Amino acid sequence: ECSNVKPHVALLSSPGLGNLIPLLELGKRFVTLHNFKVTVFIVPSPTSHVKTQILQSAMTPKILDIIELPPFDISSIIEPGAATVRVIRVIMRVIRPSLRTSISNMKSRPNALIVDIFGTESSPIADEFNMLKYLFVASNSKFLALTLYTPFLDKQVQGEYVEQKDLLRIPGCSPVRPEDVVDPMLDRTNPQYHEYVQMGIEYANGQGDGILVNTWYDLCAQELKALGDDHLLGQIVKVPVYPVGPLLRQSGSGRSCSKELFDWLDMQPSKSVIYVSFGSGGTLSHKQMTEIAWGLELSQKRFVWVVRPPTIGTADAAYFKTGSDHPSDPATYLPEGFLIRTQNVGIVISVWAPQVEILGHPSVGGFLSHCGWNSALESFTQGVPMIALPLYAEQRLNATKLVDEMGVAVRPKELPTKNVVGREEVQKMVRKLMEDDTAGGMRARLNELKYSAAQALSKGGSSCTALSLVAKQCEERFRSTVP
Ligand code: UDP
Repeated sequence: ECSNVKPHVALLSSPGLGNLIPLLELGKRFVTLHNFKVTVFIVPSPTSHVKTQILQSAMTPKILDIIELPPFDISSIIEPGAATVRVIRVIMRVIRPSLRTSISNMKSRPNALIVDIFGTESSPIADEFNMLKYLFVASNSKFLALTLYTPFLDKQVQGEYVEQKDLLRIPGCSPVRPEDVVDPMLDRTNPQYHEYVQMGIEYANGQGDGILVNTWYDLCAQELKALGDDHLLGQIVKVPVYPVGPLLRQSGSGRSCSKELFDWLDMQPSKSVIYVSFGSGGTLSHKQMTEIAWGLELSQKRFVWVVRPPTIGTADAAYFKTGSDHPSDPATYLPEGFLIRTQNVGIVISVWAPQVEILGHPSVGGFLSHCGWNSALESFTQGVPMIALPLYAEQRLNATKLVDEMGVAVRPKELPTKNVVGREEVQKMVRKLMEDDTAGGMRARLNELKYSAAQALSKGGSSCTALSLVAKQCEERFRSTVP
């Protein structure tokens, strides 16, 4: 309809809700704070049920245009059993022609293309249509720093990263423990490792106009300084880095959709319930699930647990499994009698729960989390201390930040890459978090974080200013293209 009347930004989302959710929030900020037109390109994916809900809530009131690219088939080009990063990169490669066609056919062409961490190979399309191009990192600047530096580690480090005796050094940043590396760095012979190294190279070179990160300056000052252009890492990345976070969903209609749950929460004592969830794609092994169930039961604490059927594959197996977000009866995979024995103290929810609203409820006092970055940010801003049980992606890196650097989470003595955390350990951690003075100290730090995040987002704050700088560039590009 109304073409070329205001700056227009296009966002490209890869499959996976952990990227989509903050990307939609970013889009909303361009609309509400800068009065832009925003189009979000999404790729079709099997986990449709929950995704549809999220997209719908992002479109009411309709402030974003969402375009689903046509279906694709990668079965003939991808090796069987390919790991997640590899699969997503291949998907983002094959959708490029339809993205190009879609942009080319638009009456009012976007002035900028913002891609998520898997979309950097689309930058030639932005060049072709005279669009600015940005990368959006839904995680934090530690992840960004590690990704940018991996092409260098690739040359420096012999053998597997996880087997190194020394910490992995990244210029200007706190070092990375070998056991904390991101999933694609766990096995250097896996094709997804090469995709990941390539991502680092593309981030450094290809993204012309800047990198937006879902964090704020005070939270990640060390890495953000290191990424500045007078530092070694900053010279690797040739574009400015803009911390624009935290990009968070406002709590919304979740309460009314889960009346029973919130009626129950309303009746529990203040800060007495632990919320247990492993994100949008995380799955536990049957063994780990059993241990968590027993740990929760033995702790005798109140809980809300979002479950999905256990996996025999990797922890991120739910990503591409067709129908994986369809609820199946938890009684079939939880320990026998668990649901009955815990019916007065706990609620088990199948597959998906209104997390932001739950974390914001006054009865909730702890969060057993896989440490996905969105979950961590939500926990910070709702003031809920955590137990860190990272599963995959960059979650081990996040867990170390939360526990060692920020002091807002506890974790098991050993983080499991392959091993299972036992019921005794789960029980101990739950009690520690829900009973001990430890949580008090954590809450004080979380309160400061909440304040500091609000400052960053307020007018004149660091994140608000960073986003305004990007918006200004888009406006200038817009003005230079209208006759
Ligand atoms: N989420 C939710 N309900 C659920 C599970 C997840 O609302 O039952 C939301 C959660 O609030 C967060 C996102 O999904 O915003 C998950 O992102 P995160 O980065 O924590 O983990 P990922 O899904 O990427 O592993």
